[in-house]
Amino acid sequence: MSTITITDVAKVYAGGVEAVSNISLDIADGEFIVLVGPSGCGKSTLLRMVAGLEDISRGTVTIGGRVVNTLDPADRDIAMVFQNYALYPHMTVFDNLAYGLRNRRTPKAEIRARVAEAARMLELEPYLDRRPRALSGGQRQRVAMGRAIVRKPAAFLFDEPLSNLDARLRVSMRGEIRQLQRRVGTTSLYVTHDQLEAMTLADRLVVLNAGRIEQIGRPLEVYNAP
Ligand code: ADP
Ligand code: ADP
Repeated sequence: MSTITITDVAKVYAGGVEAVSNISLDIADGEFIVLVGPSGCGKSTLLRMVAGLEDISRGTVTIGGRVVNTLDPADRDIAMVFQNYALYPHMTVFDNLAYGLRNRRTPKAEIRARVAEAARMLELEPYLDRRPRALSGGQRQRVAMGRAIVRKPAAFLFDEPLSNLDARLRVSMRGEIRQLQRRVGTTSLYVTHDQLEAMTLADRLVVLNAGRIEQIGRPLEVYNAP
């Protein structure tokens, strides 16, 4: 079963730049897809169209079987993790984690249970009463991931989530995302320009070039290809 289907999708920006040209991709339930390719090849444009942050010029995107072309980001059953953690500075970690659930009128007991579960998985329990400025970069990034996890979405969309972290944190967060993926198993579309991240995380790797899919396959197949 496919969680996300991208069918003949293209993006033409105002001014006529065709950033993405007729891309088709089926992402299976639970599959972790990593998008790589040179700067400007259309990775972030494609991700943003799936997320609903950018209009789709041509083609169709479905999430969980539903065409989402005209749906707001909030109605797409996805959660995004960005490189600039986008946490609310005036809220505690607990409230940052709970925010999206409160907006969706989730019952309080369930909010507490889901926040507790995510905090345990991400080892954030000691920090629930702190505000983001009292956390390290890695802890903030874990809160950003926690906010996505508590929602239990059909898919996660990651836009270079580790690129602002120092090298040591990047390595440990890479391992954490991999572990989470094993435990939570949510379908993911992950954009990076870091080859090690791509190798470590991808079930399938999609290499974009000039707005088109140049290669697609398991990481070792792609990187060993002539
Ligand atoms: P990547 O994420 O792979 O670096 P992008 O998706 O950001 O690539 O960009 C793909 C192409 O679209 C580039 O040529 C870029 O200059 C262009 N582009 C991106 N955003 C816009 C925009 N808002 N308006 C016009 N052109 C854009
Ligand atoms: P309300 O006050 O709306 O009834 P709750 O009883 O769920 O909501 O929680 C009150 C506030 O206490 C929350 O907004 C949150 O800031 C904080 N809170 C609740 N549970 C925890 C927890 N396990 N750790 C840290 N803060 C918590």
